[in-house]
Amino acid sequence: MTAKIIDGREIAGKIKEELEKRVGVLKEKGVTPKLVVILVGNDPASDVYVRSKMKRSKEIGIASELIRYPEDITENELLEKIAGLNKNPEVHGILVQLPLPNEIDEKKVIDSIDPKKDVDGFSPVNVGNLLIGETAFESCTPKGIMRMLDIEGIPVEGKEIVIINRSNIVGKPLTAMMIKKSGTVTVCHSRTKDIPSHTRRADILVSAVGKPKFITEHMVKEEAVVIDVGTTKDSKGKLCGDVDFEKVKEKAGYITPVPGGVGPMTVIMLMENTVTAAENQ
Ligand code: NAP
Repeated sequence: MTAKIIDGREIAGKIKEELEKRVGVLKEKGVTPKLVVILVGNDPASDVYVRSKMKRSKEIGIASELIRYPEDITENELLEKIAGLNKNPEVHGILVQLPLPNEIDEKKVIDSIDPKKDVDGFSPVNVGNLLIGETAFESCTPKGIMRMLDIEGIPVEGKEIVIINRSNIVGKPLTAMMIKKSGTVTVCHSRTKDIPSHTRRADILVSAVGKPKFITEHMVKEEAVVIDVGTTKDSKGKLCGDVDFEKVKEKAGYITPVPGGVGPMTVIMLMENTVTAAENQ
């Protein structure tokens, strides 16, 4: 049987309607949620991500401002700007688009964002709170994955979850979220031996490697839920995920496409965090 395709665009569309209502309530109280995005340098991929975030903000009624800096901006200038935004009561969310140039300490910059305005959920305070099960701004990609599963009615409790990724923005926060929902989690990475022996056990398999066709049908259990986070361009310049979609969809129970799966969920979770930040502040 062919897998059910989880339509991230459709789910994000429904969440967008809810957010528009929440923004309406805030505006009646005289508050317009505002997101400031800082972009350093001219990385074309970052440019695309930032543009989609700005566009989505506008559609929902969130005021958004893009601050662009040249590649040679100093760390101090950036930190001073963030300090100013932290103090500005009209700004509810601050996002620094990564990666930053090598000369700038990414950790220092992320640490400098007020956790109350850290809508990307990358600051140590938010990551730590997530880990101990307290309220936190959760990193948008894993949060979007959890929301997808929830909306599709896919239970996590007691399931075997295999995540291929151990990064701070995907694998680590997703592990914390899956544990919170009582899943049994295995985290694989580039040093893991015999990855298929793990993936074949997975009831829910999440791949975020960034290599096209990394996940073949032989690596997937019948009826598994396959979540494809990877985004890369194939030899023809077409955006694709980690999963050999056409073949795996014949075996899996559920599958997310690329594009149109995790990507739109990530952006809408950023919007949700921004609206929540405005409500909290
Ligand atoms: P990253 O930091 O480079 O992480 C990649 C992970 O894959 C690492 O844990 C790495 O292991 C592991 N890996 C690499 N080669 C492997 C191999 N041969 N076997 C097993 N594991 C391997 O990247 P990231 O920022 O987390 O992003 C991962 C992918 O997700 C990228 O394609 C990115 O574009 C995409 N992404 C998409 C969204 C979205 O919204 N759709 C959001 C975020 C990221 P090590 O830790 O051992 O190096």
